[in-house]
Amino acid sequence: VSVNLVTRTQWGAIAPRHKDCLKSSAERVVIHHTAMRNCKSNTEHFDDIGYNFLVGQDGTVYEGRGWGVVGAHTKGHNADSLGIALMGNFDYDSPSSEALMSVKQLLKAGVSQGFLFPQFVLFGHRDLGNTKCPGAKLYAALPQLRSAK
Ligand SMILES: [Zn+2]
Repeated sequence: VSVNLVTRTQWGAIAPRHKDCLKSSAERVVIHHTAMRNCKSNTEHFDDIGYNFLVGQDGTVYEGRGWGVVGAHTKGHNADSLGIALMGNFDYDSPSSEALMSVKQLLKAGVSQGFLFPQFVLFGHRDLGNTKCPGAKLYAALPQLRSAK
């Protein structure tokens, strides 16, 4: 499985100040959207990416914390899960088929490389917390991602 992955080094990320490794393969995947209200420069957030991966609407996958690392994306649920964020706000806009395809490929790659349990469970953030994340339209597309297994 090939994923068009932009590594931290490629996008100029600062090394994380703190990095905890997952104790085993992730059992759960939590899908988010970034829902940025204003398009200010991302640089100030680059040392504090809480998601394991981010996926652009063109299907490009950006490495956040990466595989096998505890993220900071879903309060109380980070220790055994992988957080993937689609870049954008999906309250009203639908995620692109390119972005969904990339997430599927990423999940398959995670399973084949042993970072994800083959029987992993996929959630939307709103399943686990009091939030609208990942937006109604993306949430409605989650069954397509579950079928990726
Ligand atoms: Zn979220």
